[in-house]
Amino acid sequence: MPILIKNAEVYAPGALGQQQLLIAGGTVAAVAPEIDIRGNAVEVLDASGRILVPGLVDALTHPSGGGGEGGFGNRTGEIDAAEFALAGVTSPVGALGTDALCRSLSVLFGCVMGLRHKGLAAQMYTGSYQVPPVTLTGSIDSDIVLLDPVLGVGEVAISDHRSSQPTTEELRRLASQARSGGIIAGKRGVVFVHVGDGETGLDPLRAALHGNELPADTFYPTHANRNATLFEDALAFAKAGATIDFTTSTTPEFIAAGEVPAVDAHRAAIESGVPQERLTFSSDAGGSLPLYEHGELKAMDAAKPNSLTQVLQQALVGESQVNAAVVAAMTLNPANALGLSSKGRIEPGADADLLLLDAQSGQLSHVMCGGRWLVHENQLRLQ
Ligand code: ZN
Repeated sequence: MPILIKNAEVYAPGALGQQQLLIAGGTVAAVAPEIDIRGNAVEVLDASGRILVPGLVDALTHPSGGGGEGGFGNRTGEIDAAEFALAGVTSPVGALGTDALCRSLSVLFGCVMGLRHKGLAAQMYTGSYQVPPVTLTGSIDSDIVLLDPVLGVGEVAISDHRSSQPTTEELRRLASQARSGGIIAGKRGVVFVHVGDGETGLDPLRAALHGNELPADTFYPTHANRNATLFEDALAFAKAGATIDFTTSTTPEFIAAGEVPAVDAHRAAIESGVPQERLTFSSDAGGSLPLYEHGELKAMDAAKPNSLTQVLQQALVGESQVNAAVVAAMTLNPANALGLSSKGRIEPGADADLLLLDAQSGQLSHVMCGGRWLVHENQLRLQ
């Protein structure tokens, strides 16, 4: 049955004011101040006092677990559909990460397909930190062409002690394979890059882009807020045409050690003149987070998808007006950077992926993906 959502304050992610939304066939059928549904059987939801935003597009998650450095005792577990749904992440993009020996792309593929089965619009990258990359079908381009959930390759690690230290030629080859696979499949063919603490920062990407036809937005680097030096480097990279990603999951120790809080990084980037369209947030959910007590490592925790939700809630509540640029950085902007043209936006024809949050408390009460409720009045409704 079609669904009519009334009286919500809509951020599409741009502010549209109070609108009605008609959902039919898994997509947004209409957005208007008043929609006439006389004579039709329609489920009506009165969303007075609530803010409606697109479902969150999380460009970096580890649904099959991440981490694994520091010994086998530090492996993090899988993330289930309920955890993504309750965080409002309707489009998680899965990556393998550090460990491509004791974890595999086929397990990641299984997790991603499992999330789809539960109603989420999950996607993934082929490859891992290492170059040459692990693949499922023999090459990056064939994975992108033959496997529906594969959007590109990532996280490929640079400027990190855990990186395979890819050469400029290897990065170019990787980018051209992702690009040619993307062209054939009608995908963006993104190269998502993990950037570590190393002194070289984003220079390996600049070197790979220099003197050839690869466009400035070929590489999509993440962890751009991990320290002040990398942050400044990333601002210059974004001004040259790339999209850059800030990680929302963190610990007090990371902040004390110089990580720029994701919200501060976003604000400072806009103030420095980076177009807001080139900024995104991701949770790195499933990545390992060390927990310290009195300076001693006590346990290895895992990053959560709801670190993204918390940043969203900060943007909605306690501000004089909703910070639509923050909403865009976890909806429209990552969707565009990943080539998901029907995600991250509320407009006729777009997939009906949306969230309702209380305008006063920021509490997430409803999550819809592809026209189906994953969460309804705070209750999980997974398939
Ligand atoms: Zn990473």
